[in-house]
Amino acid sequence: MKKMMYLFALIILTVNCLVQAVNPLLQEWDTPFQTPPFDEIKNEHFMPAFLEAMKAEKCEVEEIVNNDEEPTLKNTIEALEKSGKLLDRVSRVFSCLNGANTNEELQNISKEVAPLRAKHDDDINLNEKLFAKIKQIYDKKENLGLTFEQNTLLENYFLDFVRSGANLNDEDKVKLRNINEELSNLYVKFKQNHLKQTNAIALVINRDEDLAGLPDRVVQAAAEMARARGMEGNWVFTLQKPSFIPFLMHSDKRNLREIIFKAYISRGNNNDEFDNKKLISRIASLRVKKANLLDYKTHADFVLERNMAKKPENVLKFLKDLWKPALKRTKTEVEDLQEIIYREGHDFKLQAWDWWYYAEKVKKDKYALNDAMLRPYFKMQNVRKGAFDVAQKLYGIRFLKRNDIEVYHPDVDVFEVLEADGTHLGIFYSDYYPRDGKRSGAWSSSFRSQSNIDGEFVTPLVYNVGNFAKPTADKPSLMSMDEVETLFHELGHGLNSLFGNTIYSGSRRVPRDFVELPSQIMENWARDPAVLTTYALHYETGKPIPQELIDKLEKAKHFNQGFMTIEYLAASFLDMDWHVLTDATEQDVAKFEKESMDKIGLIPEIESRYQSTNFGHIFSSGGYSSGYYSYIWAAVLDADAFQAFKETDLFNKELAASFRKHVLSMGSNDMMAQYIKFRGCEPKVDALLRRRGLE
Ligand SMILES: [Zn+2]
Repeated sequence: MKKMMYLFALIILTVNCLVQAVNPLLQEWDTPFQTPPFDEIKNEHFMPAFLEAMKAEKCEVEEIVNNDEEPTLKNTIEALEKSGKLLDRVSRVFSCLNGANTNEELQNISKEVAPLRAKHDDDINLNEKLFAKIKQIYDKKENLGLTFEQNTLLENYFLDFVRSGANLNDEDKVKLRNINEELSNLYVKFKQNHLKQTNAIALVINRDEDLAGLPDRVVQAAAEMARARGMEGNWVFTLQKPSFIPFLMHSDKRNLREIIFKAYISRGNNNDEFDNKKLISRIASLRVKKANLLDYKTHADFVLERNMAKKPENVLKFLKDLWKPALKRTKTEVEDLQEIIYREGHDFKLQAWDWWYYAEKVKKDKYALNDAMLRPYFKMQNVRKGAFDVAQKLYGIRFLKRNDIEVYHPDVDVFEVLEADGTHLGIFYSDYYPRDGKRSGAWSSSFRSQSNIDGEFVTPLVYNVGNFAKPTADKPSLMSMDEVETLFHELGHGLNSLFGNTIYSGSRRVPRDFVELPSQIMENWARDPAVLTTYALHYETGKPIPQELIDKLEKAKHFNQGFMTIEYLAASFLDMDWHVLTDATEQDVAKFEKESMDKIGLIPEIESRYQSTNFGHIFSSGGYSSGYYSYIWAAVLDADAFQAFKETDLFNKELAASFRKHVLSMGSNDMMAQYIKFRGCEPKVDALLRRRGLE
């Protein structure tokens, strides 16, 4: 019997080995710059790769724990930094595909892996022997003669462990594990519901007259969407941004605008199998419990401790200070919009689904400017080149198209990024068009981070994903101004990753409310008149955008800024309200949200597009929970930082070099100090208020 068992085990082992032998995720990548071999990676490779990679990391950690030598930075912290490389690689490829090109199989894997991964991470983070070693080093760090970077790295590890519960007693550790596991499952479910509802057909039009007001481009895209969904001859609109926003802006059919707007904000709130309300109540409740376990009053206290803002009171005060001038401005915007409604002979009151439509009219009326005038100048390829050129003028880097690097979808383009002197800096992938398997929004991430341990310089592999206007049968991708800014924004995140220049990637952690500075600052160049003329070229004639249009853009700069700011701030308050809860009782989502909006005095003409049930930033992961304010916090920084260029030279190379060195290439637990090294003083809010016309 024993022999049989042995034989059986041997067979399994052999089968396992066979699987692994052909699993490209577990092998050395013999590709240019060790980029992921996407042609070979199949869905079925992920699960065994995840299991194998977790096993490998566990072994590595065990080795660190069982080392009898006195714990040192090298044999503990640096060893940890080197561990888990395989898991990191598998997770990053998976996360890219599951976000940008997912399918049912990947989603099932994600569901299956999430709890395993949560447990795996907890096994490490709650390993007592390991923490004892880290603590031993941390307690004597003053006497170790550490460099600034080593000190940052050590602090990051120590605090990560403490914040993951390393100081808890056994009973509480078990409680924390259970919470983490449940949360990870809830996030996956939220994300999947969100994707299903965003891709759902929101509106099918089958009569010509219902297309009134819509630009040809939009109509054509809707016809193509109908064809793709097997509804040839109709026009289909989804809740993906490039489909939904133009409809809201241009459709003359008020009732249809109402339908699509309500469908958008009701994602996850339709009392069907994809409803997110229960998930949200549970997530919020678990976050309170987790915060309390770790000895914080609220989830926000827990999160903000490591941000520049430090405390919920600081965030709330900051938001309130902006709320007042923005609300004041919004009230005059309402008057402008209502006036047009009356002038058109209607007697209804402006509603949330009218805002975008009449705002477009005000823009046309007051500034003789509309979306359709600009799009022909924003062909994706030109805009992308424009963003690359800005990076080149600032930092001297070049983007070289490569056709020999494998991609996960034909829409993906790959570039090699080179320093001014030709040194290889990293790889940049762009993936800009919407598709069913892609989640909404835009993001930047990487398949590999920069590091330089033991003199082995690892270069980064960075990618940007967006959902910008798709090319149609007879037109290339023609982007909106908003999308143009997003492309520059994501490239800014990309540069942040590409410029990483530290020994340890773990030392580059920066606070959430700082992380949008590198991205948002790029939007300033996108909008700048002097830069626009270089990349905004008509897609047919190649002629640069005329001065007349630039003047109009400049004049309309403050247009709708009240609305934009208020809509955003409302979402930030909602996020904070969910996370300053001290009571773990599960909330009634609708009631909670209404009270939250009533409290700040949101005007009825504005309904935020970010309702709890579709607020992926805060509920589809821990990511931006009590951190949605970060964008506007960082906007204060980016407006102030860009001012430094405006005051001197838009492409001031010295300033750019200092920005790269102090802000982009390294991390610190005191990013304000880093900022001051670049700017000479703390940022002032004035530049932001001026930029938005809210003074
Ligand atoms: Zn960003």
